[in-house]
Amino acid sequence: MRRRDFLKAATVFGAAAPILTPGRLWAQAAPMEFSAFDKQVKPLLARMTLDEKLGQMTQAELDKLENISDIATYFLGSVLSGGDADPKTGNGLDDWTDSVDATIAESLKTRLGIPILYGVDAVHGHSNVIGATIFPHNVGLGCTRNAGLVEEIGRVTAVEVRATGIQWTFAPCIAVARDDRWGRTYESFSEDPNLVTALGAAAVRGLQSGGLSDPHAILACAKHYVGDGGTKFGSVKRRDGSDGIDQGDAEISEAELRHIHLPGYLAAVVAGTGSIMVSYNSWNGVKVSGIKKLLTDVLKDELGFEGFLVSDYYAIHQIDPDFKTAVKMSINAGMDMAMEPADYKQFIGTLKELVNDGGVPMARIDDAVTRILRVKAAMGLLDKSRNQLADKSLHKSFGSAEHRAVARRAVQESLVLLKNSPGALPIAKTKKRIHLAGRGADDIGIQCGGWTIKWQGAPGPVTMGTTLFEAMKATAGKGVEVTHSIDGSGIKSGDVAIAVIGELPYAEGIGDRSDLSLSQDDIALVEPLKRLSSSLVVLVLSGRPLILGPVLDMADAVVAAWLPGTEGQGVADVLFGKAAPTGKLSRSWPKTTAQEPINIGDEHYDPLFPYGFGLTY
Ligand code: BGC
Repeated sequence: MRRRDFLKAATVFGAAAPILTPGRLWAQAAPMEFSAFDKQVKPLLARMTLDEKLGQMTQAELDKLENISDIATYFLGSVLSGGDADPKTGNGLDDWTDSVDATIAESLKTRLGIPILYGVDAVHGHSNVIGATIFPHNVGLGCTRNAGLVEEIGRVTAVEVRATGIQWTFAPCIAVARDDRWGRTYESFSEDPNLVTALGAAAVRGLQSGGLSDPHAILACAKHYVGDGGTKFGSVKRRDGSDGIDQGDAEISEAELRHIHLPGYLAAVVAGTGSIMVSYNSWNGVKVSGIKKLLTDVLKDELGFEGFLVSDYYAIHQIDPDFKTAVKMSINAGMDMAMEPADYKQFIGTLKELVNDGGVPMARIDDAVTRILRVKAAMGLLDKSRNQLADKSLHKSFGSAEHRAVARRAVQESLVLLKNSPGALPIAKTKKRIHLAGRGADDIGIQCGGWTIKWQGAPGPVTMGTTLFEAMKATAGKGVEVTHSIDGSGIKSGDVAIAVIGELPYAEGIGDRSDLSLSQDDIALVEPLKRLSSSLVVLVLSGRPLILGPVLDMADAVVAAWLPGTEGQGVADVLFGKAAPTGKLSRSWPKTTAQEPINIGDEHYDPLFPYGFGLTY
């Protein structure tokens, strides 16, 4: 099937508002013709030794390099810093810039001087670096329904990433999360493929800005191809033996895979993404990282993807217990670059053996390296006259007020008003005392969630920003007293109570949950607030819909605030009515966990709040 036919085939599945129509998609952008760079790449490839080629296909993790000189010794094509890998000197803007510059400089020492691609998970802003602007996670951005805003967020993120000299982010995550029990639900824009498609493409356009050669652009990496959001709960066991879903098995037909999980990739390819990360998950029992039909036949041949594929963190090892078999299967399936954090030498040695004994054809190696170098060429990395190190003039915009203003707007637009009894919201000017209660009420770490400074995120003052409490104090009118206590004990009779409840930070499989109920602590927090307050607003900080249980009845108003990031001001704007709530649910909100997986288009669809729900004032 050619691309245009695929588009027709992929149109509309269970969508409230079909976005994926061929005309609209193709109107967005011409697909990026990376092969146009082959004129430049082929002569370079012809000069490369086998070792130089295998190096290009290898990505190590900076803090796991035995020696920084290994970058040049093994001709590494890429280095990453994963969620927990900070520079040795610290985690600030200068630490990162110096560390990245030193790393890239190492690659320039090689015979051919091909710069490495440095990759990080800038998944909601440059989220590893202290002081960066942190945006709402994708689940909240899905509720904005605003592709223009998502594109703008991409551009801001790109500038902050470029300020540290990094040229590549493992984003956007275009998973179509179908089961809220998944610990990565918040990384997904929506359960609806149409919304994921529109916002994923917007994110790619923003990150890659005016084109990859733009010095303010970074390389996007749509992930995780494919079916990561469609795995079955219980298809994997967690470390403690309980049922999990992350990295599990998508037990679905090819038609469902194409209709739900594939359209986002077509849109990302059309929007020009230069790289795509292959997923850990299986499709009907087989690890996707080794499936040629999906990597080569569908993605490269049918969808016309001319950039390169990178594996997920040690994902190749999961294909087969014998590493040589795993590497052979993956590279022959179409994997172009291997993310092998500490095992880069083992990967290179194994692949060399496979080339020498005929297990992997030289043509496959040449294809992989061509794809990587095409993207590097498109980015200006092969241009010897260009400075490949950080442009420190960008430091002044890092975490700037201007960037934070974009995040504040994103927060405003991402909030979904689920319930509002007359007079509850917006908080009237006549209310002179407001009490915020709950662990998340004055905590940047909790409001940012996972993938913030640390892989798992963490409560506490992890970075700079405005907490909800600080924002409420700053926004409340003259003569209004705003107080806070974690356990609610600070409330005075007659106060407006704002209970901030929900989830503590987590990431990936650690966040898989078999029960989505609010915690007993949260319910116990809300009960006395209900009794003492004149009106009770419940603000849910979470990566997914949670089972509200008795809290829904107790609350006068309920706001889903998701994981808003550093700009708590956006929440205060909506609570005080400086901005009206406009967010519409990007996910169906279930009544009970037993309803999972619950998605728009289900035959017996009976959610508490349907997909697209959202009140306003
Ligand atoms: C995650 C990816 C991420 C990679 C690099 C993996 O654990 O699945 O989403 O890009 O780590 O940090």
